[in-house]
Formats: sequence, structure tokens, C-alpha cells
Amino acid sequence: MSQSSFIPESKLPALGTTIFTQMSLLAQQYKAINLSQGFPDFDGPEYLQQRLAYHVGQGANQYAPMTGVQPLRDAIAEKTAALYQYLPDANTEITVTAGATEALYAAITALVRPGDEVICFDPSYDSYAPAVALSGGVMKRITLQPPFFRVDWQTFADHITPRTRMVIVNTPHNPSATVWQKSDFDALWRAISEKEIYVLSDEVYEHICFDQQGHASVLAHPQLRERAIAVSSFGKTFHMTGWKVGYCVAPAPLSAELRKVHQYLTFSVNTPAQLAIADMLREHPAHYHDLPAFYRARRDRFTGALADSRLKILPCEGTYFLLADYSAVSDLDDVSFCQWLTKEVGVAAIPLSVFCEDEFPHKLIRLCFAKQETTLDAAAERLCRL
Ligand code: PMP
Ligand code: GLN
Repeated sequence: MSQSSFIPESKLPALGTTIFTQMSLLAQQYKAINLSQGFPDFDGPEYLQQRLAYHVGQGANQYAPMTGVQPLRDAIAEKTAALYQYLPDANTEITVTAGATEALYAAITALVRPGDEVICFDPSYDSYAPAVALSGGVMKRITLQPPFFRVDWQTFADHITPRTRMVIVNTPHNPSATVWQKSDFDALWRAISEKEIYVLSDEVYEHICFDQQGHASVLAHPQLRERAIAVSSFGKTFHMTGWKVGYCVAPAPLSAELRKVHQYLTFSVNTPAQLAIADMLREHPAHYHDLPAFYRARRDRFTGALADSRLKILPCEGTYFLLADYSAVSDLDDVSFCQWLTKEVGVAAIPLSVFCEDEFPHKLIRLCFAKQETTLDAAAERLCRL
């Protein structure tokens, strides 16, 4: 047997290509309007692009410090204080990462040991489970039910065991488009306060929240934030998912552990992009303050255009995703329906069941409305023909 014919035993045998890649490829192949993978079809602020070019021109082209450039960590600290009344230490509690994906992976790798249990709420974002599996952890999933996807705190308490090490929270929530209230964090705190359980709070849509009360961050909870890692991403906030710059905020001892992983995963993140984002946060805070209104207008336009369709649109409290119930249109399961919709109707969407471990027999699809108005109108026109 030649060496090249060895096939390694997979550490993630059940894992295939992500649904986002699959659906975007299918959309390309069938020239469908792509409302599947979550990314805007418009550019981010011009100022940000200019500052990137400026910093490249100024020679900021070598390694950034491992934890992130100082101006960006300072700007994140100030933003956190202004929004959540908590000033993290920019030197010991903030780490800039290669997108939120790296922050999530580093946090899980740093904290989850073999045999540890990690509670998460399904439908859940697809990057959590593989990271937990690679650390030898065990996912304990609680499936939430549409249309409100609320947590039953008794069920949650029943899932806690002496092996529970971490809870993964995501608000505003992808894919359900629901948000947590402060009362949810209070309930979480009551359930775990006596135990050594850490909270990984994925808040990448923190600036795309339509709730009257605004975004409830784990960082605004004085007790929980002492054992939480909050993760965010500038890709969502500044409409440039391809820049892959994110960050996490965590108490110094947790940040120290996370940085040990980050140091050997990526070491550091794109220098000129970090400097450009720092300028943007400082000079144009209105950008993220205005983001809810910016996306609310798109959400309402798209929902309005779908009013006469046979799709039933679920409430959308945050993120740039809408859920649509297609049970009046088709008996197909959600994966088959999304394939059919892409090929035959020319609109690509994401099925919800792929975010769940247990059976999720609802007829729900996710539509991304981070698109130009012309794109949304064209998609709605096709969907109204269903
Ligand atoms: N978490 C959630 C809930 C997301 O939706 C995404 C990406 N859309 C990420 C994490 C990853 O963010 P990034 O692109 O910054 O890695
Ligand atoms: N997070 C994006 C979404 O939910 C996709 C990210 C990716 O393609 N990995 O659509």
C-alpha cells in the first residue's frame, strides 16, 4: 500500500460542508437570488475603506500585537462602557480575533475538557458543536420551539449535571431572529450561580436588535460577566463579512486562557483592518447606533412585499434574517424545499432543521434581508408567485 492511500480516521466523521456554502453554490449554479448565506450585497462605509488604504499606505503591514492593536482594544472598551455600562480593561480583558468564528473556537478550546458537557439551544449556529467535539466535550442540546423560541428555565435546570462546564447563548439569535431579555440572563444566573459553569455569549448581531429595550448583553449583567466570554464581529456591524475581524471580552483569567489558544491558532489579526476599524468606531459611532433603523427599514420593506404571498412570516426581533413558514405552499421537508426553491423559483434560502440535532419537523426557512432594496423586491416578487 502506498502512503498516499492512507485515509485518516476522521475526528469529525459526520461533518460535511456547511449549509451556507452548499446553498450559496446552488444559488450560483442556478442563478438564483441568494438570500441564503448571511452577507450583505452592498459595501461597507467608504470611510472604512479609505482608512484601510491609508493604513496600508502608512506601512502598517506587519504583525499586529497578539491581543490586537491598542487603538482598537481601547475603542472596544469605550464602546462597551457606553453601551453596557461596563468598562473592560483594554489590556487584559479584550482580545481581537479573526472573526467571531475564531473567538468561539478559542473560547471553547480553552475551557472545555474531555467529558465536559456544554449546553446549547437548538436551532444553534453551526460552528459550536464541531469545536466542542474537537475538545472532547459533549453537547447537551435543548430544542426551542417556534414561533418565539423561548427557554423553559425548568428544562434548562434539568439539563445541568456535575459535568456541565459551559452554556452557549446567542442573542440576537441566528437563525430564529429572536432576542433575549435581561430577564433571561437573570434566569440563567439563578440557574448557574452556585456552579462553576462558564457562559459563552455569541453577540455578533449586538447592533442589529429591534427590541424596544435594546440589546441585552451578558456584559451588562454584573454577576454573569464575571464568568462570561462575550463574542462580537465587525463583519456584521460594518457590512464587510470578508474582513473577518471580531473580538471577545472576558475577565482577565478567562482572557488569559483564551489567549493561549488564540496565540497558536492565528497569533494575530490583519493589522491595517484593525486600525481602520478603530478609526471608524471613534469617528463614526453613529454608524452602529443607526444600524437598527437601517435594517428595520429593510425588514419592513421585505415583510411588506411578502404580505400577499402564501408564506407566513414570523416575528423578527433582531439579526438580518427572517423566518418564513411555507406550510401553505408545500409538503416538502425544509431541505428539499430550499433546493426546490433555489432551482425552480430562483430564490435561495436556508432550511432550519440543519441547525438542530433532534428532529425539527417545522416547515421553516431563513431568508437574509441584508440586501439592496432591488434585490429584496425581486425576491419578493418571485416568492409571491408561490
Ligand atoms: N455567530 C453567529 C451567530 C453568526 O451568524 C456568525 C456569522 N454569520 C458568526 C458567529 C461568525 O462570525 P464571523 O464571520 O465574524 O466569523
Ligand atoms: N454566519 C453566516 C450565516 O449565518 C454564514 C457564515 C458562513 O458562511 N460560514 O449565514
